[in-house]
Amino acid sequence: MAQDSLHRYLFDGVSVRGELVQLSDTYQQLTSGKEYPAPVKKMLGELLVATSLLTATLKFEGSITVQIQGDGPVSLLVINGNHDQVMRGTARWQDELPESASLHDLVGKGQMVITIEPEKGERYQGIVGLEGETLEACLEDYFARSEQLKTRLWLRTGEFEGSAKAAGMLLQVLPGDENKEDDFDHLAQLTDTVKNEELFSLDAQDVLYRLYHQENVNVYEPKNVTFKCSCSRERSASAIAAIDRQEVEKMVAETGDIKLHCDYCGADYEFDSVDISAIFNQTGPSTGTVH
Ligand SMILES: [Zn+2]
Repeated sequence: MAQDSLHRYLFDGVSVRGELVQLSDTYQQLTSGKEYPAPVKKMLGELLVATSLLTATLKFEGSITVQIQGDGPVSLLVINGNHDQVMRGTARWQDELPESASLHDLVGKGQMVITIEPEKGERYQGIVGLEGETLEACLEDYFARSEQLKTRLWLRTGEFEGSAKAAGMLLQVLPGDENKEDDFDHLAQLTDTVKNEELFSLDAQDVLYRLYHQENVNVYEPKNVTFKCSCSRERSASAIAAIDRQEVEKMVAETGDIKLHCDYCGADYEFDSVDISAIFNQTGPSTGTVH
């Protein structure tokens, strides 16, 4: 199968749009940073697929963060993806987790926060309670409330020929045709028949042909999906520069250096007293020029 990619498609004469995403490397790289227990890894995979499907609908440059917070043993799951389908994410958990735990066993009582951040313009945040049994149901609930468009999602994770796979699909009624429920329900029933093995092993065109061979499907140019963290030493330095200088110097005096850890990719950035004075002398208030 080709690289990790996302396909968007439309049906001739039916006001429904679709998306199909198939991930292998992105999922493996995203989950290789920590020793995730199996059920957490599975949920991160589902959330990764969901975020990819959501970011594909962005009509501007920017990013979407989907965050699940709760009072259960898994307190946080978060995935961030941008208009270029560059993804990153992480999870926090405690205790031993049962292999076959449900969403509610893992997260407990909680909520899903979806933050849409355009590079230019105001950010939008939507919050839904985790009332659905599955992540799919919770997201369908979000779409019903926020966009008032009938939407179905299919999120799958598993293994194929020894490698971890995550894949999924989305169907949504096009705005203005909300009364075409029969067409939508028919396509959703066809999509329900998709097998994990098909999603994990077949090319997108073949998956779509198997599901919808009686329909005319127009598929857009696919987009590659990749894992990459946007953290850097420079960004960490500007985060330090934003803290009070005396506070920072006190911390360095106590511990010898300042360590910043990126939760998304596991990278560590260390700054000793020389680095710290360089940061503040570059960015601190000007005290006059010395010639
Ligand atoms: Zn990072």
